[in-house]
Amino acid sequence: MRIVLIGAPGSGKGTQAKKLMADRNIPQISTGDMLREAVAAGTRFGQQAKSIMEAGNLVSDDIMLGIISERLAQPDVAEGFILDGFPRTGQQALDLEELLDQLGTPLDTAILMDVDSEVLMKRLTGRRTCSLTGKLLNVYFSTQAELDECTNAGGELIHREDDNEEVIRTRLDVYRQQTEPLVEFYARRNQLKTIDADGSIDAIYERMLEAVS
Ligand code: AMP
Repeated sequence: MRIVLIGAPGSGKGTQAKKLMADRNIPQISTGDMLREAVAAGTRFGQQAKSIMEAGNLVSDDIMLGIISERLAQPDVAEGFILDGFPRTGQQALDLEELLDQLGTPLDTAILMDVDSEVLMKRLTGRRTCSLTGKLLNVYFSTQAELDECTNAGGELIHREDDNEEVIRTRLDVYRQQTEPLVEFYARRNQLKTIDADGSIDAIYERMLEAVS
């Protein structure tokens, strides 16, 4: 199963990709997570990516192609993958298509996670990650008990640097201008499926399973 998840920041790509990964035993490839790891490791490349990410802009297509080519050459993708956050531009979509053609493993489906912008804003401004478990939480949507479970165990609720309102606006604009055209790109190739990404995590996951079946 080779899947691309397309959706605005906050559409729930990461959450759903993690569920699918656990269920189907295929890796979630999140370019955002990979870049954040490079930033945390303090590599020279990480230092360059840091300011781009903090401003809500996109890292260059060339760099992203290098990162994704290396990742797709790893043995754990033999049974498939869930791409979360890549491709994000028309060029990246073409690069991915070419790369998968060379590997002889074409994409099965691109899933568009459709959700309106008001919900996105709440999801993004309220988003937190538990420093102990990595669990994704939200100050608007998680229960108090879920939030307490992290803090009572000594964890911190981490707010991503790029989840503040100004940067979020930029990220949503970047999505509309650069990533949304991919919907048309995959529709033309008959690879697009759209799911309603509003509602509970489990309800959305059911729709996702239907889309990939
Ligand atoms: P994400 O966690 O997917 O929202 O990604 C966080 C940030 O990493 C984005 O706002 C971009 O700055 C950068 N990034 C992640 N994936 C890509 C990509 N495919 N192309 C360019 N920049 C990316």
